[in-house]
Amino acid sequence: MIPGPVELSPAVLSAMASPPPSHTSPRLIEAFGASLERMRQIWRSDAASQPFVVAGSGTLAMEIAAANLIEPGDRVVVVVSGYFSDRMVEILRRYGAEVVEVTAPVGDAPTPDAVREILSKGRAGGRFKALFATHVDTSTGVLVNPEPLCRLAREAGVLAVFDGVCATAGERFEMAEWGADLYFTASQKALGVPPGLALIVASERALAARAGRKAAPPPLYLDWSSWLPILHAYEERRPSYFATPATSLLLALEAGLAEIETTGVEARIETHARTGAAMRAAWRAMGLRLVPLTEAVTGNTLSVLYLPDGVDGAALLPKIAARGAIVAGGLHPAVKATSFRVGHMGYTASRPDFLRRAVEAVGGALQESGADVNLEAALKVLDSGPR
Ligand code: PMP
Repeated sequence: MIPGPVELSPAVLSAMASPPPSHTSPRLIEAFGASLERMRQIWRSDAASQPFVVAGSGTLAMEIAAANLIEPGDRVVVVVSGYFSDRMVEILRRYGAEVVEVTAPVGDAPTPDAVREILSKGRAGGRFKALFATHVDTSTGVLVNPEPLCRLAREAGVLAVFDGVCATAGERFEMAEWGADLYFTASQKALGVPPGLALIVASERALAARAGRKAAPPPLYLDWSSWLPILHAYEERRPSYFATPATSLLLALEAGLAEIETTGVEARIETHARTGAAMRAAWRAMGLRLVPLTEAVTGNTLSVLYLPDGVDGAALLPKIAARGAIVAGGLHPAVKATSFRVGHMGYTASRPDFLRRAVEAVGGALQESGADVNLEAALKVLDSGPR
C-alpha cells in the first residue's frame, strides 16, 4: 500500500514469470509495438504524438523531458506542489534552464491566475519556453489540474509538460483535447507494472522543439533522436536496435496496458476516483486529517495524512506492517516527520479487500500507539460506500 511500486494483477505477475525474450523476437516485437499504440489511447493523445518507453525510473523520464526540450538559457516556469516539482526544478537547472517557480503553501496548488501572471511577465522579460507541473505530487498528495494550465500555455505559446508519475491512468488527462505537450510516468505506479520503465508521450510541438534544437544534442541515451527510428520500427512490427530494451518489463507492460484497454481508461479512472473518495471518507471518519487542503487539490491515487499528535511515524510504520499492510512515511521536508502516505492506485484501486485491510492496519496500529482514532467508524464508512 505504498505509493509505488504497487501490487500487481495476476496477469502482470505471470507475464513477468516467462524467460526474457530477445529484443528481436516476434513475441517482444508485438509486445513493444502494441504497448506504444496503447499508450496513445491511455494518454488520450493523437496520431501525431510519439510514445517513448525507455528502461529507467520516473526520474529518467524527468531527465529525458529536460534533456530534449531545454537548451542552456531557456526560461521555464515550474508550478511547485511538492517534493517532485522541487526535483524537476533541480533537473531543469542542471540542463541550464532559468527557472521561475510558482509556489503555494504545502498542501495547496498554485492557482492558474498566479501562473498566468508569471507567464505574462515573461513576455516582457524574455519569452518562456515551457511550463512544467506535477499532476499529483506524491509527497503532498496535491493534485494540479492540467487543463487550465494547458490553456494558459497555449495562449502564451509555451510548451506544457506534466509529470504524471503518480497520476497517469489514475487521474483524468486528455493530452490532445487539452493541448499538452509532454506527459510522462513510470511503470510502477497507476499503470500497475513493476518498476523499471520510463514512459513518455510527446506532442508534435514537443518533437519539433527537439528537432529545432540549436544547442549541442542531449546525452545519447536520453536523446529522442536515438530512439525515434527504433520506436517507428517496433510500431511497424520490425526488429530494431539502439540500446537493449528491458524485455521482461515490456512483457509486463503489454499485460498491464492490455488490462487498462479492456477495462477502458475512463472506467479505470472512475475506479480511482471512487476509491480515492472512499479512502478519504474513511480516514476522516477515523479522525485523521489530510495534507491536501481542499478536495479540489486532492489526488485520488494516494492519501497523504497527518499523524495524530504524539504519534511517531518511524515507530508507527512497523506496527502497521505487523498488521499486514505496508505504508510509506512522510517525504516532503515540511511534513516528513508529521505525515504518512497510503497508496491506492493501479490494481489496488480495484481491490476493496486490500483497502479495508490497510484501513484496519492503520487504525489498529494508531490505537496501539495511544491515538484516539475511531476505527469502527472508518470501516463502517468504507463498507457502506459505493465501489
Ligand atoms: N515524480 C513523481 C510525482 C513521483 O511520485 C516520483 C516517484 N515517486 C517520481 C517523479 C520519480 O520517479 P522514480 O522514483 O521512479 O524515479
